Amino acid sequence: MTKPIKKIGLFLILIIALPILFFGIREITSLNENESVIEEIYTNQIESILFSINQYSEDIIRSWGMHLEGITEEGLQNGDKLEKKLTQLFNNNASLNYIFITDSMLTNKFFIDRKGLQKPHTNISHLLKGNQQPINRLYRYKENGFTKFEPASLSIDRGTQFLIFILDNKQICVFAIDKQKFVEQNLSSKIQSVARNEFIVAVIDSISNQNIYSTEILQDRTFEQRKSLWLLPEYSLGIMLKGQTIDSLVKQRSSLNLYLIIGLSILMLLVALWGYRNIKHEVELAQIKNDFVSNVSHELRTPLALINMFAETLTLGRVSSDEKRNEYYNIIQSEAERLSKIVNKILSFSKIEAGKWKYNFVKTDINLLTEKIYNSYKYHLENSGFQFLYKPFTETLAAKIDSEAVSEAVINLIDNSIKYSDKVKKVVLITGRTKNAIYIEIEDSGLGISKDDQKKIFDKFYRSSSGNIHNTKGTGLGLTLVKYIMDAHKGEIKLTSEPEKGSRFSLFFPINNND
Ligand code: ADP
Repeated sequence: MTKPIKKIGLFLILIIALPILFFGIREITSLNENESVIEEIYTNQIESILFSINQYSEDIIRSWGMHLEGITEEGLQNGDKLEKKLTQLFNNNASLNYIFITDSMLTNKFFIDRKGLQKPHTNISHLLKGNQQPINRLYRYKENGFTKFEPASLSIDRGTQFLIFILDNKQICVFAIDKQKFVEQNLSSKIQSVARNEFIVAVIDSISNQNIYSTEILQDRTFEQRKSLWLLPEYSLGIMLKGQTIDSLVKQRSSLNLYLIIGLSILMLLVALWGYRNIKHEVELAQIKNDFVSNVSHELRTPLALINMFAETLTLGRVSSDEKRNEYYNIIQSEAERLSKIVNKILSFSKIEAGKWKYNFVKTDINLLTEKIYNSYKYHLENSGFQFLYKPFTETLAAKIDSEAVSEAVINLIDNSIKYSDKVKKVVLITGRTKNAIYIEIEDSGLGISKDDQKKIFDKFYRSSSGNIHNTKGTGLGLTLVKYIMDAHKGEIKLTSEPEKGSRFSLFFPINNND
């Protein structure tokens, strides 16, 4: 690889490939972080939903408690007044079974249910005696200005939840609540509203694992979170996402991101690669064009210098013998021929490339055409120490071709065989046919062509840069010209070559195309 291309490659790696790689790796490693952040956000959201339901149930009980504030002992004695005050509370809340009020010594006890004042329930006194410690705590809170509710239960009445709290006048109050009704009538609308369309929220009896209430029919899925209800400790709140679990939602998002990052990185790398290849191609072409100019200049300069030198010698009359004069004339003539050959090749090339070559396809005897070429080149080759063999096909080979163009192609190939032969100077011209095509082959035992170069030698201006070949002059246009000519004939070129052994160029003219 040449220096500028290496520089461009390095530049592209530095400004595109490395940042992409860095970005890709960073993004992939941060996916896990994102996953846990999303999970944390969801967990927080769920926790706040459960918290708001708990808070709401406490607010309800607090509002019930407000009804009892300001009721003095005399008031309690006066059943009518008390009943009036509490009728609305009982009417609006079917879950409230009864209220029990007593002083801290448990001496004066009042028991009110929806029918009015009743005889106090002895069980409640037991309940309070068994909860002395929490009651003391409730008193301490009250002294500091807080009204707290202490849940308590009796094993003989599992369906009822007792809530103990202290009234402003320091009396102890107990609400007896039907747990299930409380959930169904007091909490359900709040649960519905916080669950919205996103979550399924349910209240479950933690002891029997029975579903008390749920916003939707529960499928066999576990809850993302379960939390006890503060005031109904035997019940718990369960919550899950509708449709998918958080886990699968997060995983789905992460894998989508992962695919996007990988896809994007690959795309960007492909674009970088494509850019690199284009630039490389342009740089190579620019270099090749440069080489072409210097090659052609060199090719023109040598014959011109020779012509100049011998013509000057002759003009000055320095050559005395006729023999020498003739020799110089011959040199001038052959160098002039060489010059016109080079110029013709360039002209033919630009004409063909510009599409200005008018092909004239005529049914032609291929053997006749190749024989003509053989005869006119035989002398020249043998004179240069070559063994030049001709192996025509035994039958007539008729093909519809432009004979001038095909001759040009064959002559170019023979020229190359001469140029690129070293120790074994042998060129064979062959004609033949296969099932579908007629072919002309030019075989030499010369330097051969490496596998790598075999792919490139038909490119415009391309010249192999290895070893001896480099020393041979040329324009890099010969094989491109051959290719253009064969394309015009809808034909094919096949090359078989091995370095140090020789090369065979086969030109195939399809038979279908020939009539
Ligand atoms: P030029 O001969 O002017 O360099 P061509 O297009 O005819 O240009 O050939 C391109 C390259 O292909 C040559 O530079 C040479 O390396 C290689 N090549 C062509 N013909 C032969 C051959 N018969 N043997 C070995 N190498 C060849």
